[in-house]
Amino acid sequence: MTIEIPKLPYNLNALEPYISAKTLEFHYMKHHQAYGKNLNKLITGTDLAGKNLVEIIQKSNDNDDLVSIFNNAAQVWNHTFYWHSMRPGGGGLPKGVLMEMIQDSFGSFDSFLDVFKQAAATQFGSGWTWLVAKKDGKLDVIKTGNAQTPLTMPIYKPLITCDVWEHAYYLDYQNRRPDYVTTFLNKLVNWDFAEINLEPR
Ligand code: MN
Repeated sequence: MTIEIPKLPYNLNALEPYISAKTLEFHYMKHHQAYGKNLNKLITGTDLAGKNLVEIIQKSNDNDDLVSIFNNAAQVWNHTFYWHSMRPGGGGLPKGVLMEMIQDSFGSFDSFLDVFKQAAATQFGSGWTWLVAKKDGKLDVIKTGNAQTPLTMPIYKPLITCDVWEHAYYLDYQNRRPDYVTTFLNKLVNWDFAEINLEPR
């Protein structure tokens, strides 16, 4: 079984003017695909060949011999989650239960925005910023470095992610990561996807 990279859920130009077709072309067609190709090469002939992506991530996590497999597998999963965390015409306010949980967890929606922006701005180097649900019903914002993913952290259920690797924003925003993150929250974030992720699995 080969690990496939799912189709992008919209066209390459669908997030313009906020994220250019050029950025998505490199990010989806080059970076994301390369993680998939590397992963398939690395698992060929190993015990992990034939396992599904989540199993590969969990089995290679925290294993010094399988770091490359973990990095590529987690990046495959994180990117697919990121594409769905955005939509054309996104942003705005979450609805219903999700909005109530955000207000309950952060004090207000504006405070949530501040916490998310702060986490994204202070992730040193490459990584990801996540809105996650915890077992106690509260939401939290966490950041992970490089390929690290809350998929390996059973206390968290990821709802939304923002890729803060430079390749996600450099062509459009150069070094202005905070502007990219603000645009992600105001114009792109897919609250419907966050709501779906809240539902029990
Ligand atoms: Mn990326």
